[in-house]
Amino acid sequence: MPLKTPLEYVESLKAMKIRAYVGGELVDNVVDHPSVAPHINTVAKTYELAHDPRHLDVMTAVSHLSGERIHRYTHIFQSVDDLVKKIQMLRLLGQVTGTCFQRCVGLDALNAMYAVSFEVDADKGTDYHARFNDYLAYVQREDLMLAGAMTDPKGHRAKKPSEQDDPDQFVRVVEQRPDGVVIRGAKLHNTGGINSHEILVLPGTGLVAGEEQYAIACAVPADAEGVVFIFGRQSNDTRKLEEGCDIGNTRFGVVGGEAMVVFDDVFVPTERVFLNGEIEHCATLVNYFATWHRANYGGCKGGNADVLIGATAKMTRILGTDRNAIVKDKLVEMIHRNETTYASAIGSSALGYELPCGSFMVDPMLANTVKQNITRNVYEIGRLSHDLAGGFLATMPDSKSFENPDIADWVRKYYGANPEYDVMERIRFGRYIENMTSVTTMVEAMHGAGSPQAQRISMLSQAAIEDKIRLANEVIYGTDDVPGLPLPLTSPAPTNDDKTK
Ligand code: SF4
Repeated sequence: MPLKTPLEYVESLKAMKIRAYVGGELVDNVVDHPSVAPHINTVAKTYELAHDPRHLDVMTAVSHLSGERIHRYTHIFQSVDDLVKKIQMLRLLGQVTGTCFQRCVGLDALNAMYAVSFEVDADKGTDYHARFNDYLAYVQREDLMLAGAMTDPKGHRAKKPSEQDDPDQFVRVVEQRPDGVVIRGAKLHNTGGINSHEILVLPGTGLVAGEEQYAIACAVPADAEGVVFIFGRQSNDTRKLEEGCDIGNTRFGVVGGEAMVVFDDVFVPTERVFLNGEIEHCATLVNYFATWHRANYGGCKGGNADVLIGATAKMTRILGTDRNAIVKDKLVEMIHRNETTYASAIGSSALGYELPCGSFMVDPMLANTVKQNITRNVYEIGRLSHDLAGGFLATMPDSKSFENPDIADWVRKYYGANPEYDVMERIRFGRYIENMTSVTTMVEAMHGAGSPQAQRISMLSQAAIEDKIRLANEVIYGTDDVPGLPLPLTSPAPTNDDKTK
């Protein structure tokens, strides 16, 4: 069965020569770096749970290529049930790690590339789909951790890729060779790339004629010559280098270990190139990816919020406020917001439909609604957590103060609350809440899978406003009353064409 164990994942990373800079310094091996380790631990959980018989159904699937049981993170969605199980997998992993487990970007990129390579072939007579299937079989067989790389730096936001002063602001092909292409540029906010096996590079935007060099989709090993990761900073990240209870989420990351990934003239062999110049299909590729990924957030953030709600509920017990009706009501509000986004994610999956290639897409309107709600509900849930936990989240002393005999008695005494709980529980849970409601976590919820306006544009384009106006006209001016019913005529139909506008 092609399912890596967590240790095999770590060992396989160790064997790679990933070129990464953390804190401005070149890292010998990402596996050994304390800033990267929490993110590796998080991904390792995705491998571990696939071996747990209790979670087999959610964490694994049967490959439509090989017929073998594979990790759901390398699976092409074959049904509505697959879409629903994916959301359930994300909630489970969110509950177990309390953070971003990174593999969904690669999964959605795989699915987007699978679907679009089929559509490009049908349109252009190319052979991308078969080529991509060979790659997919390799990913499934090896159970690879795949990072998707979409977001270009974009330079001047008012200019298209071809109008930029610096042409490298969007990843592009700088050389076509008989056996492949050479790509240059960078991708930002790359989730999990620094601890992945492969990077699936996709265009980050729709393109127009004259921008063929930017229409490139390909797979690159994370340690390929010319690939460089520059690790991002996160709120409180140096806490991970400490010991004690100030760390927050002690074993796992805060978000997805995002990095800038630079492609410094990277050669990509033809068998790893899945789109090369077909500008007409870039918008669909971006749209497919974004739609799947936006639905995800109701699952992963749902699981993360379960942990945060749990930490907050426990904090109310530590403080002795848990029996207060207002406190309970605020917890209910947190639960309500969380379950609402989860329900939307399940709903978008339940209403999934088949694409031309035979794989399944979530309902786009509901998927975008999920993500739009996440940009608010994650903040609101965090706000309520702060409200219930209290101002000490921002003012508590560090854990060393509780160890220094000169002051330990004072801080223990004056931070004590319900005597059923040790004061250090209050500090530990307070740090967790502080950590997981920090700026990085919030911004990720806001901008991950596209900023809020991107969802609103999609929602408006799918809302069929003209149809809604027609519905309103029919209800208000309609004459399809059941014959014989004594309905009053409330307003005469207009004599002009207004009722059709
Ligand atoms: Fe997966 Fe959520 Fe992280 Fe995106 S933000 S990679 S959906 S866990």
